[in-house]
Amino acid sequence: MMLFQSHPEIFGLLESPFLTSQLNLRPLVYESFLSLQERASKAGINLQSVSTYRNFEAQKNIWNLKATGQRTLLDSNGVALDFECLESFDIIKAILRWSAFPGLSRHHWGTDLDVIDRHYLDKNPSYNVELIPSEYQEDGPFEELGRFLEHELNGCDFFRPYQDDRGGVAPEAWHLSHVSSVDYFKEYHLQDFIDFLNGPICQDIVFLEEVKESAEFIFKNYFQNISHL
Ligand SMILES: [Zn+2]
Repeated sequence: MMLFQSHPEIFGLLESPFLTSQLNLRPLVYESFLSLQERASKAGINLQSVSTYRNFEAQKNIWNLKATGQRTLLDSNGVALDFECLESFDIIKAILRWSAFPGLSRHHWGTDLDVIDRHYLDKNPSYNVELIPSEYQEDGPFEELGRFLEHELNGCDFFRPYQDDRGGVAPEAWHLSHVSSVDYFKEYHLQDFIDFLNGPICQDIVFLEEVKESAEFIFKNYFQNISHL
């Protein structure tokens, strides 16, 4: 089974008047997001998404750029690492701290999205959103949103799979997951991942052999290891 394939019949692009020209989310997720936007708006926050559904090719592109040093690797605090000083497995772990292995991204499902507070960008149009922890903490541009997500997600259809540091993926205050993502999560097993790594679609992924050797560790530590509802 491959989870990353999109399903056109339920994945239709949803037009949006927001920051991005379209939000590519499953319709149910989109509706839940509109409700959450309304709640956020009452708290003075203009909740918008900067990233929704991402396909396998896009994720592979991110991976390969980072794995070849063409895109900056960050440590747990969002500070740049020196690529030249890292062994291959250190590079893999550094990538996985912030970016999923292609095929394992929750963004492949149409149930997950990254959010910001548009109010700040309206006041600071040249600001470049980085999606790093300090942006959502005290004195960061999205401090209020960080507080809102910390306290106001109870009882809504979203949770934050990366809200705590569990030693795998770094805490991502901005990453929201719809409750329906649980179905995709539960259906994908280690053996699916191993079979997938041996398939033709993965052959041009950088460090594929190293990833195969550590498939179980990667699957458990970076895919299964999430904060649940
Ligand atoms: Zn995300």
